[in-house]
Amino acid sequence: MAEITETAIRKVLDTVIDPVTGRSVAALGMVSGIATRAGHVAVTLEVDPARGTALEPLRQACEQAIRAMPGVLSATAVMTAERAAPSPPPPPAGHHGHSHGAPAAKTTPGKTTGGGGRIDVPGVKHIIAVASGKGGVGKSTTAVNLALGLAANGLTTGLLDADIYGPSMPRMLGVTEKPESADGKMLKPIEKYGLKTMSIGYIVNEDTPMIWRGPMVSSALEQMLRDVQWGELDVLVVDMPPGTGDAQLTLAQRVALAGAVIVSTPQDIALVDARKGLNMFRKVAVPVLGIVENMSYFLCPHCGERSEIFGHGGAREEADKLGVPFLGEIPLHLDIRTTSDSGHPIVVSKPDSAHAQAYKNIAGRVWKQLSANQRGARKAPNIVVQ
Ligand code: ADP
Repeated sequence: MAEITETAIRKVLDTVIDPVTGRSVAALGMVSGIATRAGHVAVTLEVDPARGTALEPLRQACEQAIRAMPGVLSATAVMTAERAAPSPPPPPAGHHGHSHGAPAAKTTPGKTTGGGGRIDVPGVKHIIAVASGKGGVGKSTTAVNLALGLAANGLTTGLLDADIYGPSMPRMLGVTEKPESADGKMLKPIEKYGLKTMSIGYIVNEDTPMIWRGPMVSSALEQMLRDVQWGELDVLVVDMPPGTGDAQLTLAQRVALAGAVIVSTPQDIALVDARKGLNMFRKVAVPVLGIVENMSYFLCPHCGERSEIFGHGGAREEADKLGVPFLGEIPLHLDIRTTSDSGHPIVVSKPDSAHAQAYKNIAGRVWKQLSANQRGARKAPNIVVQ
């Protein structure tokens, strides 16, 4: 079989043209990683977050072009994004309230509860945030599978997609219905795979561009926490907007979080971002439950061999250095992408797979900490609960 070289792949990607700019994927410098193994090719594409899901056809075109190369048995293209949140106006310094002059989020249902205190949800024992320093690292994939892993461990679990810049739960959970309200005030969460879920994406079209200002982010999230009938939950997993800007800081500050899980890829640059995420939670005294290393290594879907595209183990070392738990590593694997992008996350669609087990183990570690914290036996001395 002819050897498939990185140069040959780049040459092919030089023929895939982005219709918007008229330039090739290679010429645009989108190709940030290439791995090949016995005829199986994986590439990562660094994309402009502003274009989001609009780039899906281009991603598919890349896969097709590579698949057409002689000797190629399978091709996977994964998009990652340095997704800077639209810069919101800074939240009012020194106090938690949101400005009364700010427009309320028109696209969210229910009443505006207003007020600036801490957002707590009665009946929910622990609210945890899944966060990342930048977009495209697999935060949402991790949040979904972590929530399903908690449910698989026998816990009553909810999942709130607070990533209002790019809600992904409708796609990842395959939800097409709209949430209902019995009394016109409270929304019923949509139950899927044993989880109670809510996403702004259930209410507005995924392709509708939304421009959010800091205070609007806060009030949209507040409504999704307060105006949804979550009922009794052991854990509510919140998929945070990516990044560490003011909007994220305000959320971390206002929601009564029991802890945060940081998702990072092993690339050094992503780890720098992960550190920013960590510092953000520390600043607002939210315990960091640990770091998950996603796309840790490339696991060939056919021969099972691993290649460490980005260098591996960075997150574990970083976690040790920073004194936070390392929760586990998840490989870059075709099954994880296809299952989560088709609405059947791997923890439910392939519950006996090694990947599902890895997510369940991470969930077990998270729960262990939450239940230990509940008993007041938390070890980490550098964390203060307000
Ligand atoms: P984020 O929430 O950080 O923006 P997503 O969870 O939406 O990232 O993931 C971005 C893309 O990468 C999605 O297409 C997703 O299916 C894919 N992906 C995430 N984690 C993995 C993984 N471990 N292996 C393969 N693909 C992955």
